[in-house]
Amino acid sequence: MYNIVAAGFGEIFLKGKNRGKFEHKLIEQINYNLKEFKDISIYRDSGKVFIETKNEDDMDSIIGKTKKIFGIVTISPSVKTDKDPEVIIEKSIELFSYLKEKQDIRTFKVKTKRVDKSFPIKSMDFSAEVGGRILAAFSDLSVDVHNPDVEICIDIKKNCYISSEKIRTVGGMPVGSCGKALLLLSGGIDSPVAGYMIAKRGVEINALYFHTYPFTSERANEKVKQLKEILEEYCGKIKLFSINILEIHKAIREFCREEETTILARRFMMRIAERIAGENNMEMLITGESLGQVASQTMKSMAVIESAVEMPILKPLVGMDKTEIIDRAKEIGTYETSILPYDDCCSVFAPAHPLINPKLDSILKSESKLKIEELVESVLFTLEIL
Ligand code: ATP
Ligand code: MG
Repeated sequence: MYNIVAAGFGEIFLKGKNRGKFEHKLIEQINYNLKEFKDISIYRDSGKVFIETKNEDDMDSIIGKTKKIFGIVTISPSVKTDKDPEVIIEKSIELFSYLKEKQDIRTFKVKTKRVDKSFPIKSMDFSAEVGGRILAAFSDLSVDVHNPDVEICIDIKKNCYISSEKIRTVGGMPVGSCGKALLLLSGGIDSPVAGYMIAKRGVEINALYFHTYPFTSERANEKVKQLKEILEEYCGKIKLFSINILEIHKAIREFCREEETTILARRFMMRIAERIAGENNMEMLITGESLGQVASQTMKSMAVIESAVEMPILKPLVGMDKTEIIDRAKEIGTYETSILPYDDCCSVFAPAHPLINPKLDSILKSESKLKIEELVESVLFTLEIL
């Protein structure tokens, strides 16, 4: 029945000079997320974006994918028609028969919105006329303007769109409307959720994954790639960088105290991430840290880790409980992949008793035994784009 999806966005997009830019980003994103569909066209019509398909069989999957796009707040599966009153009435009745087959409908209401004032009939009058014709066509129906089972909405813009529901979608802002950041993506539960949350605020995300091959497996790589692909359903193309930091772990093991391993390794990760972000026009880093979750996420540990770099680090999960994060991961669809059992480099080299109250002085002293710049340079040679 439906041949088009009307996508509405949040209030803020409707105002100001940013509107055009937001809409442009959003259309880019929709094009990317729906690239597998042939015969679709995407266009703007007075404050909404429309996704039209010539192939009605694709409609359900188009709706499913559109629901996930950041920046879209509601969608309405719709029927696009000419702006001929008689055609609109016929199509409205047709839509009604379609709906009545799927659900028990007793009451209804018709609402007309007329952006195009050249349409010859006033909104109220047209609603009444369409309502009358629907009543005539279905004897078991009655009108209820306050609490109808179904509200038929006739939206008259450059074209006419008839719909019967508004579905709330993920919301957020169009990716790319708010800068670029580098997500430290591990393969655990937290970092994919962190990336999702920041991308939802309109930030274009790229990801960086550290491994210690051959101490971590190829399958761990695959897992991170899969997580990236799930995130891409929401936020479009993500470039995934991977780096082997085995040499760094070896040096730490050789020259430093075991309990400092995690903090030292994390400081290296931050330095490398800052470097890659800087070279690729990204303004901030993102991690999945949550306060107090593990030894390296106490206030003191976080402060010592962060002080290795100047670039701001976004930690959207900082105040969330693990159960909340897990719920979110399930909702997004990353959880099942995240719990696959392949080892992370941090767990492979995790000390038995990690520091929870690291002192910056002693960490700096340990680092003075390491050739920091040389180590960073040497692992940068292992940089791959997955
Ligand atoms: P996650 O569930 O995201 O792995 P975690 O609870 O295991 O997080 P940590 O291991 O302390 O917590 O990692 C904290 C953050 O550091 C991660 O959320 C991630 O952003 C980053 N990080 C940790 N390990 C890696 C890695 N191997 N590659 C890239 N980033 C990492
Ligand atoms: Mg982890």
